Amino acid sequence: MMVMGDSMKSSFSFDLKRDHMCGLLGESDVGEEVVLNGWVASRRDHGSLIFVDLRDAEGIVQVAFDPSSSPQAHALAGELKSEYVIAVKGLVRKRPAGSENPSIKTGAVEVLALFAKVINPSETLPFELKEDSSVDEKLRLKYRYLDLRRQAMRNSIELRHRVTHAAHECLDSMGFLEIETPQLTKSTPEGARDFLVPSRLQPGRFFALPQSPQLFKQVLMVSGFERYYQIARCFRDEDLRADRQPEFTQIDIEMSFVDEEDVIGTTERLISSIFQAALGISMETPFQRISYQEAMERYGTDRPDLRYECVMATLDEVFSKTEFRVFAESLKSKASIRGLGIKGGSSFSRSELDSWERRAKDMGARGLLWFVLEKGTLSSPVSKFLSSEEKKGIIDSLRLEDGDAAFILAGERQQSDDILFQLRRQAAERLGLVDEKSFKVVWVVDFPLLSYNASEERYDSLHHPFTSPTPSSLAFIDQDPLKARARAYDVVINGIEIGGGSIRIHQRDVQEKMFNLLGISREEYKSKFGFLLEALEYGAPPHGGIALGLDRLVM
Ligand code: ASP
Repeated sequence: MMVMGDSMKSSFSFDLKRDHMCGLLGESDVGEEVVLNGWVASRRDHGSLIFVDLRDAEGIVQVAFDPSSSPQAHALAGELKSEYVIAVKGLVRKRPAGSENPSIKTGAVEVLALFAKVINPSETLPFELKEDSSVDEKLRLKYRYLDLRRQAMRNSIELRHRVTHAAHECLDSMGFLEIETPQLTKSTPEGARDFLVPSRLQPGRFFALPQSPQLFKQVLMVSGFERYYQIARCFRDEDLRADRQPEFTQIDIEMSFVDEEDVIGTTERLISSIFQAALGISMETPFQRISYQEAMERYGTDRPDLRYECVMATLDEVFSKTEFRVFAESLKSKASIRGLGIKGGSSFSRSELDSWERRAKDMGARGLLWFVLEKGTLSSPVSKFLSSEEKKGIIDSLRLEDGDAAFILAGERQQSDDILFQLRRQAAERLGLVDEKSFKVVWVVDFPLLSYNASEERYDSLHHPFTSPTPSSLAFIDQDPLKARARAYDVVINGIEIGGGSIRIHQRDVQEKMFNLLGISREEYKSKFGFLLEALEYGAPPHGGIALGLDRLVM
């Protein structure tokens, strides 16, 4: 039970409705009488003088309660607690010289309270709303409305707003129409499970929530809209990760009569105007491009972080005639030898170098060999077993320079890549190679169309089943499906996949061939995607598009 005097009763009368915002007051308001409404962010009691930082959506201003100016306001200030909602009538004045606070926008002024009133009190908060607080995440989520009162959270929400606003403006200026597509619908597959919603009117039947608006946007192209976009909510029932939520938003785009270059060019314009509008950063276009194959070879991933220059290489050739037993036996057993160059890695101490081996082992490696290049000499605990050609091969393949280190793993290729991928990031962080303020954008292109799903003995599409193979792949796709290339592209910023898209199949026979390759029966594809197949027969234009993950972009 909260006990309060008469002056503390909850009320909101018009005479105390604000006429100014706390966070917008400045020197030009000095001498004005203002009414402010807001939350008590903090209170400092200096005996005769009490200071309250009053916060509203625009920011904070200091309010001074002086008993000689208003005994009423001063008495009330004595009873205020954090996050009470109050109204203050007061006089804006310059702060006395030396007591300005440059860390807040309104720091040159303060408001001398003449009258104050509690609009609504607050219980003691479950946690302090400090910017640097390390409050338990569960507690923050339970009281999300309080957590969102923190400036850092507000900044993120504001940034997200600026990003969507910039996206709307930019796409509108390029002639795109925003069109909403249904949420209660049939399955739209993107490789995840559907969320299902039972139908009340047709008992036993379900709607699927869309994994993306993919099919709708393609049908809109058949309708002749030519340039569609939507800030679309998508639903995918899959395992959670820091950058993957069951329900998320994407900037979804589709265009007609286009090829890869058109979609890539449009997306570059969109991303750069978002960065310009939201952060004032000019991006250099065109963005760098790398093929899927090179990304996998050089970075062991199809979403490389190019902020730092540490590259991987396959060293099977270098060691094809080696006398070093470990490598010779690996190569005989069809394992591969993968290396990673570490810029500036020779600064690691010997014991640190050994600790990287322990980390690799923790991740499942049988062992990890390290090398350092200093004054042209490559040294390592195993260097005496390697020929000078082999050492030169390591230096050249990993593009090593004096002062660099290298890690080498022999084993199953995918596992080695996964481990080196982690070590690359960890070593770069440890050596301070990651410029946190820079943005390195790269297109990954030239993807395979399919991958082989060994456990289910069938092919999966790498993107989705509506992605077009390249024209030259179509000729041999039945004989050698894994060699087929896709007309697909992904955009990656600082190692995070921001989006992806493709040129689509716009002919029914090709789409049916694709379903067949994926092992989807005629019955199944007719019932699930019959409407798309039919639409493709009524003058479907060539088309393609992309979707950008909105929250990944904001992150
Ligand atoms: N529908 C795809 C996705 O959601 C994007 C696209 O191909 O346009 O990832």
